Amino acid sequence: MPETKFRSFRVDAVVLRHSDYGEADRLLTLYTRQLGKARAIAKGARKIASRKAGHIEPFTHVRLQLAKGRDMFVVTQADTVDAYLSLREDLILTSHASYVLELLDRFSYEDGTENSALFRLLTDTLSRLASNSDIWLVVRYYEMRLLDHLGFRPQLFECANCGRQIRPEDQFFSFSAGGVICPRCAQGLKHLHNVSVETLKYLRHFQRSSYADASRARPTPEVQGEAESLMQGYFTYLLERELNTPGFLKKIRE
Ligand SMILES: [Zn+2]
Repeated sequence: MPETKFRSFRVDAVVLRHSDYGEADRLLTLYTRQLGKARAIAKGARKIASRKAGHIEPFTHVRLQLAKGRDMFVVTQADTVDAYLSLREDLILTSHASYVLELLDRFSYEDGTENSALFRLLTDTLSRLASNSDIWLVVRYYEMRLLDHLGFRPQLFECANCGRQIRPEDQFFSFSAGGVICPRCAQGLKHLHNVSVETLKYLRHFQRSSYADASRARPTPEVQGEAESLMQGYFTYLLERELNTPGFLKKIRE
């Protein structure tokens, strides 16, 4: 459990997931502004009349009062900041919001560290999805920014192999090198993925632009498909690599 000064304190949190715990309780997995990822018990949350129950559904942005229990935080008060109701009413939105939460859940661990910027990215992304923005854009922008926060910012301006500046032509992408590979280097390398000059343009744009600027992008369906499968492949690769890293497993166990 992260060290905190007080026995009871408030956190801003998004509920990533919950599971049944004991007879009437729920175990919440949270992403908080103040402590990063954290877990807490909501006692009696499964009772029908529980006043806490509605506040602790997944996707919900809540303000929680937590108390230090014997070996876990206990929720003593819960207030909804934003329930993002529209995310629950539309199956497509629900699945994308779940993806957003799951990515963060899988790549974060309970280290008790404040991360306001990442928390802000999460709540901004859920708000954008809930307010009928272009789903493709919201999710790709989130992925690109999440990679930054996780320390996996892909190299998109110089070749990740020879370091030369990337020219405006179709390129390759290497998950293991973490970036774009120029056509010259690509001849001698394996496990590369094609990335068209158009797709690369949008990925670069998302990497260095504000959301307001990025949201003016109007990529073709081909570019959308290519960017999506490239990012998903990269996240899958990173997740498998991290899971096989002893240091990562140690962090999770702590
Ligand atoms: Zn190169």
